[in-house]
Amino acid sequence: MPGVENRDYEALLLDLDGTLLDLDIEKFIPAYIEALSGKFTDFLSRENFTRHLFAATKTMVENNDGGKRNETVFYEEFCGRIGKSREQIRPVIDSFYRNDFPRLSCWGKVHPDAAAVIENARRKNLRLVLATNPIFPATAILQRLSWSGFSSHIFDLITTMENMHFCKPNRAYYLEIAGALGIQPEKCLMAGNDTLEDLSASEAGMDTFLVEDLILHRTDKAPVSTYQGKMKDLAHFINNLNP
Ligand SMILES: [Mg+2]
Repeated sequence: MPGVENRDYEALLLDLDGTLLDLDIEKFIPAYIEALSGKFTDFLSRENFTRHLFAATKTMVENNDGGKRNETVFYEEFCGRIGKSREQIRPVIDSFYRNDFPRLSCWGKVHPDAAAVIENARRKNLRLVLATNPIFPATAILQRLSWSGFSSHIFDLITTMENMHFCKPNRAYYLEIAGALGIQPEKCLMAGNDTLEDLSASEAGMDTFLVEDLILHRTDKAPVSTYQGKMKDLAHFINNLNP
């Protein structure tokens, strides 16, 4: 652990999957798509559903037009591809998140060291952001948050596809969070397990803490973070912050 532990952070941004929540995203996503594609078989084959879902998600992630929320970008692309209106597919989506998504909770477990991170951050009066990639609707994020054992009320901001205009790893996502909080990016610490999506916060001027417990390293480049350690190290780090 680095020795510099006295930066005057005002906000802690926490990733969800593989960070606060013990969840292997690379196993969860196929199970999620399998379940979701099964709801659309009246409209299109599972293969075509998956292809259009990935393409629309890619469009949303790469979108750099701050004038549209992620939700708008996604559904414009997805609905255009499958030739259905948003109103036509809304009942299917709503039913999936109400009746089927809860069953995917078998993939998520409480992380034993996450509570100490949250408790210490609250004691240090840090603003808390659930900085999960806003490619999912709020219900999918709030349900996963509940699997992690935390209430949504402890967060000052939870980023979802409905309230954000950018996605990770775009630096604009992190700037949008800082702007929403009214805090300089330099006063924010982003903690997460993904060397690409979470460490890109540094491009917005934020410090980063790479959480190693369930590290996700998807590139060939060696990860560069301000700090690095396990969740219990992050709890200790926050505990040692001033004041
Ligand atoms: Mg993650």
